[in-house]
Amino acid sequence: MRLLIANDDGYLAPGLAALVRACEGLGEIDVIAPEQNASGTSNSLTLNRPLSAYTAVNGFHYLNGTPSDCVHVALTGLFDRRPDLVLSGINQGANMGDDTLYSGTVAAAMEGFLFGIPALAFSQVDKGWAHLDAAAKVARQVIEQVLRDPPSRRPFLLNVNIPNRADAADLPMHVTRLGRRHASEPVIRQLNPRGETMYWIGAAGDAREAGEGTDFHATAHGRVSITPLQVDLTDHVAVPDWQSWLTTSAAP
Ligand code: MN
Repeated sequence: MRLLIANDDGYLAPGLAALVRACEGLGEIDVIAPEQNASGTSNSLTLNRPLSAYTAVNGFHYLNGTPSDCVHVALTGLFDRRPDLVLSGINQGANMGDDTLYSGTVAAAMEGFLFGIPALAFSQVDKGWAHLDAAAKVARQVIEQVLRDPPSRRPFLLNVNIPNRADAADLPMHVTRLGRRHASEPVIRQLNPRGETMYWIGAAGDAREAGEGTDFHATAHGRVSITPLQVDLTDHVAVPDWQSWLTTSAAP
């Protein structure tokens, strides 16, 4: 058993160390993470400069790139063997609903999934690393279950969000769908020391579609949320509508 572990908070993040500790004894572990915090970088790959990989004193590898770069480089040349599982996290903060499109944590796992390897992304719902050990226990439980009883759908991509609670490992786990968020808060405008306007991207919007069955609903009600993700963005239901629109609106 070989595990590849990555994250988006950077190689020094407590959540990465916690996930690695949680996986002790499960197999050989390779760790590759961004040199700096790369949250919100989604699936970006660095194409305009070369990447350098380094090894930290604890054996973790780090790369001056994005989470997707890390897993991509790991799978295509940095390491000599293909992992059986790609893990990402544990992220500081939720990755639910629309967050998953921006998330570097999900992207690192998705990169493994795109290479045909089962992958799991783990996030704590709240920032601040409270009860990280409990979240790591949850991760261990999910990973052990996946290894003990391999899902028939392969590869798979699971997005796991864990409430920051001391009893996280005792919470029920629910399989969920992604909720939706409201549009983001307005940009924050400030003046820099030279008197020029600068902009900070505003906070994510609050949950909008957070009903029963969603990731938002599950974590708000004291459950661990496990959302199976896919990559195909096609609006399959809408394809026939668009076909008839194209036909009927065509110029005579
Ligand atoms: Mn992050």
